[in-house]
Amino acid sequence: MSKMRVYEIARKLNTKSSVVIKKLNDMGINVKSNFSAVEESDAKKFIDKWNKSRKELLKKAKSKQKKEEKEVKKEQPAKEKALKEDKEKKTKEPQRKQRHRFKKEEFIEAVTPQKLKAKKKYKKTDKETKEEEGQTNTIELSEGTTVFEFAEKLGVDFSDIIGKLFQLGIMARKNDVINTDAAKIIADEYGFELKEESAKAPEKIEELLDIEDKPEDLVERPPIVTVMGHVDHGKTSILDAIKRTNIAAKEAGGITQHMAAYSVKVKGKYITFLDTPGHEAFTEMRARGAQITDIVVLVVAADDGVMPQTIEAINHAKAANVPVVVAVNKIDKPNANPDKVKQELANYNIVPEEWGGENIFVNVSAKKVIGIDELLESILLQSEVMELKANPNKRAKAVVVEAKLDKNRGPLATVVVKEGTFKQGDTFIVGSQYGKVRAMFDDKRKKIKKVGPSFAAEIIGLHGVPEAGDTLVVVKNEQVAKDIAQTRQKELKKAMLSKKGISLENIFEKIEGGEIKELPIILKTDVYGSIEAISGALSKISTEEVSVKIIHSAVGAITKTDINLATASNAIIVGFNVRPTQEALQMSKDLNVDIRTYKVIYDIIDDIKKSLSGLLAPEEKEEILGRVEIRQTFKVAKVGTIAGCYVTYGKITRNAKVRILRNGVIIYEGVISSLKRFKEDVNEVQQGYECGVGIEGFNDIKEGDSIEAYVTVKIKREL
Ligand code: GDP
Ligand code: MG
Repeated sequence: MSKMRVYEIARKLNTKSSVVIKKLNDMGINVKSNFSAVEESDAKKFIDKWNKSRKELLKKAKSKQKKEEKEVKKEQPAKEKALKEDKEKKTKEPQRKQRHRFKKEEFIEAVTPQKLKAKKKYKKTDKETKEEEGQTNTIELSEGTTVFEFAEKLGVDFSDIIGKLFQLGIMARKNDVINTDAAKIIADEYGFELKEESAKAPEKIEELLDIEDKPEDLVERPPIVTVMGHVDHGKTSILDAIKRTNIAAKEAGGITQHMAAYSVKVKGKYITFLDTPGHEAFTEMRARGAQITDIVVLVVAADDGVMPQTIEAINHAKAANVPVVVAVNKIDKPNANPDKVKQELANYNIVPEEWGGENIFVNVSAKKVIGIDELLESILLQSEVMELKANPNKRAKAVVVEAKLDKNRGPLATVVVKEGTFKQGDTFIVGSQYGKVRAMFDDKRKKIKKVGPSFAAEIIGLHGVPEAGDTLVVVKNEQVAKDIAQTRQKELKKAMLSKKGISLENIFEKIEGGEIKELPIILKTDVYGSIEAISGALSKISTEEVSVKIIHSAVGAITKTDINLATASNAIIVGFNVRPTQEALQMSKDLNVDIRTYKVIYDIIDDIKKSLSGLLAPEEKEEILGRVEIRQTFKVAKVGTIAGCYVTYGKITRNAKVRILRNGVIIYEGVISSLKRFKEDVNEVQQGYECGVGIEGFNDIKEGDSIEAYVTVKIKREL
């Protein structure tokens, strides 16, 4: 007879294993862990029971809500009067406080008097003062309010709300969107009336939805190509050579002005190049949710071979699942060694077809214009395999590749059309901006009336400057566009605040919820030797449900590019003896990217293992206080070396722990022995001020080093 595992039941019911275990045990079915097996008949009984009780509870919740709505309608005039009287009473009796309208007959478990009291105490400052001031006791629930936000509005702990939801048969976590019906009941229990913020008109949202294509509507479209590779390997030169052979030769008047994307014609077919070489542009766009690149051309100089940014480019392309065509450049050089490049790339799974791999390799010289046509033909070959298609007969969708404010013409954007046909006069929404196409130009700066899939156009008629990577969608009219743009601006702010990246703490939740099957990791270390040791050990970690995948590893400080890649790939960053740059640190906070830094390899392995099985229970967490730049050093007799510093970010405090960083690598960790402003001893120094810092037992400070100040704080376990 077949059996079901606890985690399978939990997944089926969209809940946690721990809940299933408890309830099964309550039913007298003995299970211990996630992997315990349950007889199929028992599992079925359990699932049926679960679904039934959940249905009943929700039905009750809904009928109660309906009943109330009816009463509200009936009593509208009476209610207004009562409200007025109530207000008057309150002004007369300012001390009088409204009781919680807790209705015991509800199916919600009764709140004990102690609990109620405790809550009242807690809420007094916030809610009751409002009452005393005569404000009404309502809260607004906008679309997408999370359990945590809801709890904050009520002024109670979110775990209380999770408990209440549980009693309603709803499994929810802190950052889940709260069920509206349930929210009404719970708000009522705490003495609040819930008002739903008016929802957006549905037809407006519909305008942004994808329209499904019938297979017969799809036609072939040109590939969109990004050129990547190590600095100085010849990206710009190759793009120039392509332009020269394909545009300038045919257009009298020579090379056209720069445009961020352009198309070239090869054997009657087109290829669109994004002229923003470098992985920054590629990954930054992808981090913004716009992957328009179909093919990456990886440029490797034949005299230099595979270099750090070559590897980075490979990893970015792999993370985005984009095929790579290799251009081995500078073959005109006497010391060129294209075969060595092939061998080196094979170590990174970029293998030429003649070796049984699936990557096309082309030897080129941008300088002598050798192999450029072959490169273009190879790109076409690659794109044929991919069968790239789009429907040109629908409202257009495009992606911004460059945008700027022009002194004379106003906001300008260069976009590449993804689907549909983009026309002059179209109204559109782009990111949180909107506009109407007043004029549009092709990649030769020629005025055009429309542009189809995979082609670029520069447009004017925007109300503001969008960002590279923003998606443009054509909508019905300007009013709709404006409304959506405004809502988006609001939402954008909210999303920035509530975006929850993947972290070692929440990964188990996500595994259990079936959201992820692998944990992508970006690894940065102080020396090459540790990369191999750590990635070797990490790659071996896997459980039945999830495996670890190193998507990028390199030596050096954690940078902005790493944060972008982490955001785009939903990865966490592991640093070994290295720390983020200040810019990366701030960005990681904004984007909620989890950065973990370690000094002991064993600790990395241990932490990741624990997190994958949900056993990671950190009691302490690091809080970065600030960064300090060392501008000068002084030797002081008997005291040691004192650093003349400037606080560049946050603050430094006397009792903080510190790390000394040299080029992002940790060279010492310890505590402060002295902190002075001029001659005075001080407890803290804020951003923008100078100070003198002494580090206990460490005198090897150098100009240009920086100090990271941090404290460790105890953290309360959630749930
Ligand atoms: P990017 O940093 O990858 O954009 O590289 P560039 O295109 O700016 O090229 C870097 C340097 O390499 C320049 O000095 C180019 O003139 C040179 N270069 C580019 N392609 C070739 C080539 O095919 N042969 C030779 N000999 N030099 C090249
Ligand atoms: Mg360049």
